Amino acid sequence: MGFNLTNGGLIRRENFIDGEWTPAKDDARFAVSNPATGDIIENVADSGAGDARAAVDAAARAFPSWRNTLPKERAAILRKWHTLILEHSDLLGELISLEQGKPLAEGRGEVAYAASYVAWFADEATRIYGDIIPQQQRGKRMSAVKEPLGVVAAITPWNFPAAMIARKIAPALAAGCTVVAKPAEDTPLTALALALLAHEAGTPKGVLNVISASRDRAVPAVAEWLQDSRVRKITFTGSTPVGKYLARESAGTLKKLSLELGGNAPFIVFDDADLDAAVTGLLAAKFRNGGQTCVCPNRVYVQTGVYERFSKLLSQRVAELKVGPATDPSSQIGPMINFRAIDKIARHVDDAVAHGAKVLTGGKTLPELGPHYFSPTVLADASADMVLCCEETFGPVVPLFPFVDEAEAVRAANDTPFGLAAYFYSDDARRIDRVARLLEAGIVGINEGALASEAAPFGGVKESGYGREGSKYGLDDYLSIKYICQGGLD
Ligand code: NAP
Repeated sequence: MGFNLTNGGLIRRENFIDGEWTPAKDDARFAVSNPATGDIIENVADSGAGDARAAVDAAARAFPSWRNTLPKERAAILRKWHTLILEHSDLLGELISLEQGKPLAEGRGEVAYAASYVAWFADEATRIYGDIIPQQQRGKRMSAVKEPLGVVAAITPWNFPAAMIARKIAPALAAGCTVVAKPAEDTPLTALALALLAHEAGTPKGVLNVISASRDRAVPAVAEWLQDSRVRKITFTGSTPVGKYLARESAGTLKKLSLELGGNAPFIVFDDADLDAAVTGLLAAKFRNGGQTCVCPNRVYVQTGVYERFSKLLSQRVAELKVGPATDPSSQIGPMINFRAIDKIARHVDDAVAHGAKVLTGGKTLPELGPHYFSPTVLADASADMVLCCEETFGPVVPLFPFVDEAEAVRAANDTPFGLAAYFYSDDARRIDRVARLLEAGIVGINEGALASEAAPFGGVKESGYGREGSKYGLDDYLSIKYICQGGLD
């Protein structure tokens, strides 16, 4: 299979500002490369503070008329965007795989997932209800109405180049907000392609603006948004340290924030679990995108009664996973995103082994495949003093921690500053109810490894952030409530 994106016309190398494809003001560019080979795909605009400001100027100009569109008019544009995304599903899937590295089936799957948020929020746009408040005094009428916040700045990571951007832009546009967006340095091409399709769908100029930037220039570019009082909201998906930085630096203009941050998900297998189902669920949850997913299980706790059997079943299945580039349709695990990712994974594995973990399968880089490959790995006898217990590995590594009883497992699962996803497998109805309530996480999977859905609220607690994306709650983050009190009525 050969990638043929240029013919599809989806690759854009300029910023999309005020309805125009615009180079960076100083014409700077940076290279976007294929993580499977290191080859350069395209040189795109490297934006600075001036480009970021131009994007906000356009979004602020567009806001008064966009907020006054009828919800059903915004819904119609979002529906058209949804249709165009699906019509370009193959090309977009290839583009995601090309710049991010995930296997092609996953790239196409991500397109459908991203599109599902657009369709969902097209419908939600028409359901932004307020309240008539029951009368408290004669002659007075009180109501609450929901209004769009204004200009929204969206900052997204590289691991889901389409889904992360779609699940921010779609609710923002549905609510009547205008958007400035900055995708990750590693994966700007998908975001620019989505902007192209949104434009074709009829999004008026200035309503959606996307700028790309290299890591060094992203800092001053985003700082411009943090300090600009016209930007009323930051919606961010990425690491916890950067989320905290954005919260601190935007405090001067008190913006509303949605922060979808890092995780350190526990996955608990109790003695009473269906072990085959638990292995299958763990493979689905852990190895999606090669383990580079914020909801990937990072710590797997297995009760001692099934520990040996589970370790064996799991290692056999993991050893069978096919590693390779997205260009090979049989690949199940692609390259990691860059050298920093490989370094971190290798550091975690080395540290675990130095602290007594045993490698059951994998445990090494695969230079024969390319610069960024790591073999799917299972480590037995992991313990709390290993770095991988407290830091997100973000790679294809499963550490197995033995535990004796339920209280110990729950305590260990919650012993982290993070609280995004948590999973457990059990066939005991009382335990299922109890453990689901005790786990400190925004998302809990019970006997299930695949949790994501546009209809469900996605988000964390503790240092995994706040705000929810998707679901009937997802629009609230882009709206403010206005209380209106009218007096002098008979
Ligand atoms: P990251 O380093 O925090 O980067 C995320 C975004 O922020 C990128 O666009 C990045 O630009 C930008 N950025 C980084 N530092 C910045 C700064 N000082 N000023 C302005 N912008 C800055 O995270 P990542 O490594 O790309 O993504 C992996 C992390 O995201 C993991 O922790 C994962 O758990 C988390 N994640 C969370 C969710 C969720 O829903 N909770 C979903 C997916 C991923 P550059 O690319 O140029 O650095």
